[in-house]
Amino acid sequence: MRTPIVAGNWKMNLGSPEEAISFVRAIRHPLNEIEGVDRLLRRPNKKLNAISEILLPLKIGLGAQNMHWEDKGAHTGEISPSMIAEFCQYVILGHSERRSAASIEDSAEAINRKVHAALAHNLTPILCVGENLAQNESGETHSFVNQQVRSGLQGLSVEQVDKCVIAYEPIWAIGTGKAATPSQVNSIIGLTIRGALSDMFGEDSAQAVRVQYGGSVNKENIKSFMTMPEIDGALVGGASLKTDFVDLVRGAVPKPPGG
Ligand code: PEP
Repeated sequence: MRTPIVAGNWKMNLGSPEEAISFVRAIRHPLNEIEGVDRLLRRPNKKLNAISEILLPLKIGLGAQNMHWEDKGAHTGEISPSMIAEFCQYVILGHSERRSAASIEDSAEAINRKVHAALAHNLTPILCVGENLAQNESGETHSFVNQQVRSGLQGLSVEQVDKCVIAYEPIWAIGTGKAATPSQVNSIIGLTIRGALSDMFGEDSAQAVRVQYGGSVNKENIKSFMTMPEIDGALVGGASLKTDFVDLVRGAVPKPPGG
């Protein structure tokens, strides 16, 4: 049984420490009480320490939204894995909003380096993959996502890959209010993502790695995704900025057997 994992990605919102802290204070207790789902918040990399102090005694993880792969050096404006690891347990890597900037620091090779670096610092990497609308419409989803999974996880051991989380996020569904259908997502995760994992690392790893869906998930539609056997939770943008994010996380709690 894979434990579902729901991650709220604030992007560049709730930016002031006051806003972020009062939001976390408003949701921390009800969010903490939910059983059976791993949950985490991802705020911009600045001021992670202020939030981490509030979350420290609670069962709510903290994640960063990006990092460099090197531990130190002349990388103005970057943040290193060890700086992140001081406050966080997770790091999102290869979000489409960063890949699309076509920066050399978010090339496929760079993302793979970051995955290795995150694991070396005991951070759980959440590797984002997903096709754009043109690729979806021209039937390239399978080959594109398959390639992103392979390049992102290249060179990992079985033990390492089992610690990773993958987020399948079709770009056309992010922030558009047009979520993919649960059965589409189930099939891409089952066939394409777990298929690539199985080829690279074996069937046990393919079944062990948690794969989230991201793209216009909200408290109304979360349950329809969670009824699908291949979907292990959600990566949530817009809906993680409201206090009813707690209801969304509740919607990801697995039903008891026979329930
Ligand atoms: C995201 O930013 O990764 C995302 C899934 O956003 P939204 O939930 O707003 O579509």
